[in-house]
Amino acid sequence: MIPMLDLRKEFLDIEDEVVGAVIEVLKGTRYVLGPEVEAFERRLAQYHGLSYGAGVGSGTGALFLSLASLPISPGDEIITTPFTFFATVESILYVGAKPVFVDIDNKTLNIDVDLIERKITKKTKAILPVHLFGLPCDMKRIMELAKKYNLYVIEDCAQSFGSSIDGRLTGTFGDAGCFSFYPSKNLGCYGDGGAVVTNNQEMYETILALRNHGSRGNYIHSVVGFNSRLDEIQAAILLIKLDKVGGNNAKRRENAALYTSMLSSTVMCPYIPQGYTSNYHQYTIRSAHRDKIKDALHDADISSVVYYPLPIHLQKPLGQFGFKKGDFPVAETAAAQVLSLPVYPGLSEEAIGRIVQVIQKCL
Ligand SMILES: *Cc1c(COP(=O)(O)O)cnc(C)c1O
Repeated sequence: MIPMLDLRKEFLDIEDEVVGAVIEVLKGTRYVLGPEVEAFERRLAQYHGLSYGAGVGSGTGALFLSLASLPISPGDEIITTPFTFFATVESILYVGAKPVFVDIDNKTLNIDVDLIERKITKKTKAILPVHLFGLPCDMKRIMELAKKYNLYVIEDCAQSFGSSIDGRLTGTFGDAGCFSFYPSKNLGCYGDGGAVVTNNQEMYETILALRNHGSRGNYIHSVVGFNSRLDEIQAAILLIKLDKVGGNNAKRRENAALYTSMLSSTVMCPYIPQGYTSNYHQYTIRSAHRDKIKDALHDADISSVVYYPLPIHLQKPLGQFGFKKGDFPVAETAAAQVLSLPVYPGLSEEAIGRIVQVIQKCL
């Protein structure tokens, strides 16, 4: 059996360190928003070369609170991709804004920057690019458009921790970078967690209040906020795992290179533009015979997952906006053809060889 991820092995490698850190938190009795969260926020900001990091309850919380910290009113428009995890668009709906979708680029599977400008209206307030599967979006052109039309840019970095363009990390281009530490992300904790990184002091301070009932902890409430806090146990774990994520991302890249060297004549392999570095959150192939490949892998006891089978504009809760099949054809075709293969750091060369063999044999 080859799983999508082996979190057990990853934990056993750092067991003593993690258990020690968790026990210290338990003994210290500061369980929510304490010194571990503060230390992690500082390290996370430093890691990105930015001034501020704010720990929050999840990646969804990071996106939602970032948008909520901006002057966005009901009816305003936010531009994003239809090919992403649902939470990206939930965060837009939470603030009462209208998601305006732009189809994806057929090679990168990220928002097609050539199609953004024609979707900008007087109501557009922000662009929310998603660095899907770990591959950065074309941030140079997105920031040019944002500057030209005076738009905010909130980066969904839930899948792109450590990914970069010409050495510059995702999350450092826009007004804010939003991270998820859900266990299966490249930097994952052992529960829910998230963070926002930014250079914008006003946004940062607003997010600190919004995550904690609109208060900085003194029972004086400046606004109606939420409960979306990172807890101390998760922050202590993240401080340990932050030191490992670079090495783990490098192993994922080695695994990806091996796949691509063996599979590129059989299926469409991930496309990485010049100067871009992916953290390979997913290694996602494309084929018109996707379902056949998936079945063959399943029969060989190998896990694979379709991320994502239904683009967001066709999801039921978006019904109010009247989107229909055919509105975003590139995303819809991708949804019918993509398949993510195991690429986790501890995956062996032998396992990759077996996976490749199954794929080649079934086609
Ligand atoms: C995981 C993910 C999120 C949400 O993160 P949670 O921590 O699960 O709330 C948002 N956007 C994308 C692209 C994701 O992959």
